[in-house]
Amino acid sequence: MPEISVLSVASECWPLIKTGGLADVVGALPAAVEPHGVAMTPFIPGYPAVMKALGRKRAIHKYESLLGSPARIVSARHEDRPILVLDAPAYFDRDGGPYSDAMGRDWLDNGLRFAAFARAAADLAAGQAGAKPFDILHAHDWQAGLTPAYLVYATPGEHRPKTVMTIHNMAFQGYFGRDFFPRLSLPQTAFSIEGVEYHGGVGFLKAGVGLADAITTVSPGYAEEIRTPQFGMGLEGLIVGRQDRLSGIVNGIDPAIWNPAADAALAATFTAETLTKRTVNKRAVEKAFALEPGDGPLFVVVSRLTWQKGMDVLIEVIDHLVGLGGRLALLGTGDAAIEAGLHAAAGRHPGRVAIRTAYDEALSHLMQGGGDAILIPSRFEPCGLTQLYGLAYGCVPVVARTGGLADTIVDANLAAVSADAATGILFAPVSYEGLAHAIARAVRLHGDAETWQRIQKRGMAADYSWARSGKTYAQLYARLKEQA
Ligand code: ADP
Repeated sequence: MPEISVLSVASECWPLIKTGGLADVVGALPAAVEPHGVAMTPFIPGYPAVMKALGRKRAIHKYESLLGSPARIVSARHEDRPILVLDAPAYFDRDGGPYSDAMGRDWLDNGLRFAAFARAAADLAAGQAGAKPFDILHAHDWQAGLTPAYLVYATPGEHRPKTVMTIHNMAFQGYFGRDFFPRLSLPQTAFSIEGVEYHGGVGFLKAGVGLADAITTVSPGYAEEIRTPQFGMGLEGLIVGRQDRLSGIVNGIDPAIWNPAADAALAATFTAETLTKRTVNKRAVEKAFALEPGDGPLFVVVSRLTWQKGMDVLIEVIDHLVGLGGRLALLGTGDAAIEAGLHAAAGRHPGRVAIRTAYDEALSHLMQGGGDAILIPSRFEPCGLTQLYGLAYGCVPVVARTGGLADTIVDANLAAVSADAATGILFAPVSYEGLAHAIARAVRLHGDAETWQRIQKRGMAADYSWARSGKTYAQLYARLKEQA
């Protein structure tokens, strides 16, 4: 197969910068597509953590003014792979997170920051910023959403790469008011319904979805759901209008990072043949969270604490979970009201419920290796990764029947259990009754050690490595390149 070059444009990339699943996917993709003849180079913003982590950097392009501020594109290698970075201190050299300050308030100039990023990405992909032109530009989420617009409306020259827009989460669309349009340096014709205009303002994700040659989202189930108002969140009409370009490709997990047989973050490594060793990890989780040790079911949660993730419903159900003999260890950060509700629940049940409001990658691995079941009551979930990690680590996923969760977990109903196909518990709706019933089912199943082990082993045998999805992305790029 001839080599296809792809510029992967995203605001996060594990292990350099991560706030959620997007980073895991962008970090894993280059290795996943490489065996299929694809040379992928990520392009990310130069946040302080990124600039610090990268060693030798070479400037390949300089902007006196990139939408108003000086910037450079630098090329580096990370873990033996190429990476390109937008070094623009005025936009990205700040304390806090990629999108918000240390207090969690969104940066007021997020529109301009990521417009500048998209402008530079378009220049790079077209071969006008110090690198060879790329065959394909792959834009991820709203932060990269304007890239196809810059290519269509404001990139002169011969080469126009084909574009892929991937939606990792429809809830974040990047919408900015009409006043913002002049700052984009796009021609007036771009402010149209075919272009970046959206409800009188500028829609970043809308522009990407409307202008890309192909649109993907991160599971087949979510690709169906976003055709409806409930999940399409305003973009359903555009999605339906372009559905012949839309496909759902489920995320994989990176076995170099998530492998219970060789995970340095675990107290004891294990395989499906040595599941009893999980007890050592269970004791370590109990210790880390100051929970009473015990053989009863230990539920874990690793999540952003938001409405999307159903964390408000979880709070309501905690007393019931404890009443059934369960314990809960929760790791996450997010909405202040949800954090407060969880702390209150932990206060009511010392030794049985504990919450750690932090971002702790190593602890998240230990929880997957020691928890009995991971709770994921999401109201919507484009793909979800924590249920895939749960499968790989024998931490049985208890998940809402939506999006990628429904695509990747087989419910332990009678038929599936007797066919030895079950890998977890699915429930609907996301309500007190729905989640409480699912937890009761989990507690009951956990009491039947033989069945529980079969579910664990079936999950551990499921193949959610990147092999299949890497090939599917590569096929999509190859199809687009042929059309060029
Ligand atoms: P989303 O991207 O919507 O947050 P995903 O399930 O796709 O949800 O991905 C979440 C990723 O972030 C997973 O890798 C999960 O382990 C990780 N994660 C979330 N919260 C924390 C936390 N507090 N500490 C460590 N890892 C976390």
